[in-house]
Amino acid sequence: PSLTGYDKDENEWLWLWDDVPELDMEVGYKVKTLAHYERSAYQEISIAETRAFGRMLVLDGTPQVTEKDGFIYNEMIAHVALAAHPAPARVAMIGGGDCGPAREAAKYADVRSIDVVEIDARVVEACRAWMSPPSAADDGRVRLIYADGCQWLRGRRREYDVLLVDRSDPYGPAAALYKDAFYRDVWEALADDGIAVFQSGSPFCSPGVLKSTARQLRKRFPVVRTYLCAVPSFPGGIWSFTLASKRWDPLNADLARLQWRGARYVNPDVYRASFVLPNYVRELLEWA
Ligand code: SAM
Repeated sequence: PSLTGYDKDENEWLWLWDDVPELDMEVGYKVKTLAHYERSAYQEISIAETRAFGRMLVLDGTPQVTEKDGFIYNEMIAHVALAAHPAPARVAMIGGGDCGPAREAAKYADVRSIDVVEIDARVVEACRAWMSPPSAADDGRVRLIYADGCQWLRGRRREYDVLLVDRSDPYGPAAALYKDAFYRDVWEALADDGIAVFQSGSPFCSPGVLKSTARQLRKRFPVVRTYLCAVPSFPGGIWSFTLASKRWDPLNADLARLQWRGARYVNPDVYRASFVLPNYVRELLEWA
């Protein structure tokens, strides 16, 4: 009963209710079984087996990644920057979870190291035990670092070619990953031709998150581009990432670099199309 987001209906079926406070709405997922539940030092972690999406990693009542559609988010947060950069050797990501973005980054032969910075070791362990596909943590280039991404980044200078900010929503441990000081530290940690990608929320359900991300990044980076994908298990479906680059423009990328064979979402056409924005998103970015 004390587990955030879960509720039993009158027929004793368990449901997970994902709260979207901006819209006074909740999205419900019928839960077949609760495979795992624990309260870590940072958050409530659960793995729910759902009818719609298979197993789902849930943090503080919010679904993060599912077995059935996790490939979409993981491919799109990783491949765009890795293809846009002509030689990404040193890669880091903040927010580990099931290490899905690390799995995608490992497909690039130029990548020599992948630092995965996750605040909560228990999330990685729970995913390793319960989620598929198997964790990428065993790739020899992946180094798991259990730390607050914000503190870990501070003081780093020109160390990374690509930095992926796979942050959860701006509450709890992730709140600092939306602050001005963090965006400044990202700039400092990137090489002179480095690229960063930020999960920037749903343009429909939380336009403020996308707006403030674009606004902060434009203060520093010469190239800032928002792109979209559709994630069925996220409320509203449509999701944004915002890429910030010191030199390379993803619109001019050599897409022969894109490691899309074997991928289930991304391909060169999807890469290009993801930067095409509907008018309501263009407008909110213009006013950002
Ligand atoms: N797409 C991801 C996946 O493949 O599992 C979901 C990861 S989830 C969006 C975000 C992760 O960031 C969570 O595992 C959470 O514990 C972690 N996190 C939150 N705040 C953090 C911080 N300040 N530093 C590092 N990791 C953080």
